[in-house]
Amino acid sequence: MKKIAVLGSTGSIGTQTLDVVRNHADILKIEVLAANNNDELLEKQIEEFAPSIAVLNDKNAYEKLKARYSGKTQLLWGEEGLIEGVVNDKIDTVVTSLMGFAGLRPTMAAITAGKNIALANKETLVVAGELVMRSAKEKNIEIMPVDSEHGALFQCLHGEDMTKVDKLIVTASGGPFRGKTKEELKNVSVKQCLNHPTWKMGRKITIDSATLMNKGLEVIEAKQLYGVSYDNIQVVVHPQSIVHSMVQYVDGSVIAQLASTDMRLPIQYALTYPERLACVAPKLDFWQMQPLTFEKPDTDTFRALALAYEAGKIGGSMPCVMNAANEIAVEAFLNEQISFLDIYDIIEDEMLSHITLVSPELEDLFEIDAKTRQNVKEKLSKRC
Ligand code: MG
Repeated sequence: MKKIAVLGSTGSIGTQTLDVVRNHADILKIEVLAANNNDELLEKQIEEFAPSIAVLNDKNAYEKLKARYSGKTQLLWGEEGLIEGVVNDKIDTVVTSLMGFAGLRPTMAAITAGKNIALANKETLVVAGELVMRSAKEKNIEIMPVDSEHGALFQCLHGEDMTKVDKLIVTASGGPFRGKTKEELKNVSVKQCLNHPTWKMGRKITIDSATLMNKGLEVIEAKQLYGVSYDNIQVVVHPQSIVHSMVQYVDGSVIAQLASTDMRLPIQYALTYPERLACVAPKLDFWQMQPLTFEKPDTDTFRALALAYEAGKIGGSMPCVMNAANEIAVEAFLNEQISFLDIYDIIEDEMLSHITLVSPELEDLFEIDAKTRQNVKEKLSKRC
């Protein structure tokens, strides 16, 4: 029986993780559930999965639930509660599907406590990849990617000699604005942005997908997970999202992983590896399939991908700055404070004014993250 903590259990990845657990209740057991502020859905999940601990990040939401709940699950709140949850003796695997930089501290706490990680919070590896991978090695724990592309790469690399890898080919759907010009992107709305052609995801990642920042974050994530240099990671736009990523080897052979666009498959594989089990995700039918196409990404228009390569190559604290600026810019875009193209300018501006710290420690990153957020917010308030 694998005992699991799900951080972000009411979000898109969290609810799909619970669906996987529901279908394999004989081998997977939920011990800890944690959500940001959705106390009603968390309460339903507590009733169904009866975890030992449930955590709400938001104190008001916690108090509301505490006032009406009389069951056996221990209720906790805030970051401290989250950390108490992940270091708990009862669990061996933590699914980290919190949104953004907020995932870093609990993920590090879980690694330090020797828990295996099913990583859905890519920002953790983007901001602190070296530190995270180093502590994972020291603690001899596994970091299994939940991201569909990295789950695909994991499968394509399985049993192969890493020195024979020519390049990792990370596929991108291209998002809702593929093929659009800068001029056409000037006035796109939040609603148009949230209308992703192939994947149903949370709001932040859907905007990241439209700007191509999601792919930029994934390139850095791939570098940290598999240690392949940036020059050997290629992004290919593949609008059908059937090929989830590929590896090209020195002899020219390409190994690809294909599946339907359903996150329950990569989540399940991360939780049950090395076993392959039946999955609720629909299977591909090649007789019914539309043609699969591949093209070069337009990084001149969708600059976030180029910015992410640059931040990744500079390394040190630069990806942290890029990520923090992006998180605040996306939030401002979702609140209709800025336009779509402003997101790129805000990120670039912060990167240009940042003096990189070459080997930041965790506390340096927390400081740089906070300072970048504050800088961006100050600039935004001056614009209004
Ligand atoms: Mg992905």
